[in-house]
Amino acid sequence: MSVSLTDAKSAELYARALQRLPGGVNSPVRAMQAIGRDPIFIDRADGAEIVDVDGNRYVDYVCSWGPLIHGHAHPEIVAAVVAAAHRGTSFGAPTAGEVDLAEEIARRMPSVEMVRMTSSGTEASMSAIRLARAATGRTKLLKFAGAYHGHVDGLLAEAGSGLATAGIPASPGVPESATHETVIVGWNDGEAVAQAFADNEFAAVLAEPYPANMGLVPPVEGFLDLLRHQADENGALLIFDEVITGFRVAEGGAQEREGVAPDLTVMGKVIGGGLPAAAYGGKRALMERIAPAGDVYQAGTLSGNPLAVAAGLTTLRLLDEPAYLRLGAITEALASGLRDAAGSHGVAVSVNSVPGLLTVFFAETAPRDYAGARACDHEAYAAFCRALLARGVYPPPSQYEAWFPSLAHTSAHLDRTLDAVNAAFAELA
Ligand SMILES: *Cc1c(COP(=O)(O)O)cnc(C)c1O
Repeated sequence: MSVSLTDAKSAELYARALQRLPGGVNSPVRAMQAIGRDPIFIDRADGAEIVDVDGNRYVDYVCSWGPLIHGHAHPEIVAAVVAAAHRGTSFGAPTAGEVDLAEEIARRMPSVEMVRMTSSGTEASMSAIRLARAATGRTKLLKFAGAYHGHVDGLLAEAGSGLATAGIPASPGVPESATHETVIVGWNDGEAVAQAFADNEFAAVLAEPYPANMGLVPPVEGFLDLLRHQADENGALLIFDEVITGFRVAEGGAQEREGVAPDLTVMGKVIGGGLPAAAYGGKRALMERIAPAGDVYQAGTLSGNPLAVAAGLTTLRLLDEPAYLRLGAITEALASGLRDAAGSHGVAVSVNSVPGLLTVFFAETAPRDYAGARACDHEAYAAFCRALLARGVYPPPSQYEAWFPSLAHTSAHLDRTLDAVNAAFAELA
């Protein structure tokens, strides 16, 4: 594999993009600033591989940040989208596909009896919060440092990389009034959770059950049970943001693996199969507060879009029990390959993994909270990423993100990846 890929066309597009798109991109992490290089413009992709506009081919571990659990351009998903497009792209009226998708979600996630579809995870978490506030008559929210729930004003405090202290607006333009109702505690800190509940009346506690936006930092034993217990004892709702984990880590998401049922679940990414779709859902009594069944207003011109629903439904139908076993095996092979490679080159790295997700942390021990994730060696991670990109492997360009292996990653892809990983660690050591 070449170590000096050409990037003339990406560079030319980036120069044009900088004139018309802030930072040259439509979502910040794509700019690759965190790893000290310019963005790579993609031309096309198939399976586990993406090809950039200069013709360089990479084994992709971003996979659109999670939706592409079957890899890129899966023929059945593409066919479903094309067939849907030929019937019309949007009607602003209900379709059969939305009912099918809602039924498929409810079958997989017993805590979700009804869903409302949206176009993005951000909208879904914003709407779930509105519902929780309406249902409890309370306004305060508990969230965790380093957890990301979309760019919702009230949740942008300590929402992953580079964000500031508790309750202070983390982005200019977010009024203090919006974050005033948000209390932030450390992930895996049971005492802080108990104290926050003692000091506040919460509408809801919001958690990624397997946080993956500070890098992957799974819960310690019993932590999700503690959240369930505290919410029940104190009249608050438990909201799981399963935008990443839903239908990825297991058929029924992290709530199935961990045996903890939330009151509301926020979903996205995999349920759109690479098209814009997300949803929130829960028990019937709660969800029937949503208009027009109830009085909590929420709407969307493209919500339940036929193309997105077709992609999502086909994606879910291809995810049977053997598929999850296979994804788990692929993830474990990659995680142990990364650990072994780091070990044999004497690089201080720890890898957190759950089926379908992993993060490479440059630290002796894996972080268990946001402070731990921040303390990792981000310069070393950046150098590692640059070295992998130069060898045809495309990792998430920030240590505050997860790698997304897919069902399209074969053992040949893993071999290519681990060759590049070994060379990259050798360069770093
Ligand atoms: C990606 C993500 C969101 C936001 O979804 P968008 O579709 O990007 O708005 C929310 N929560 C989590 C856990 C996510 O990873």
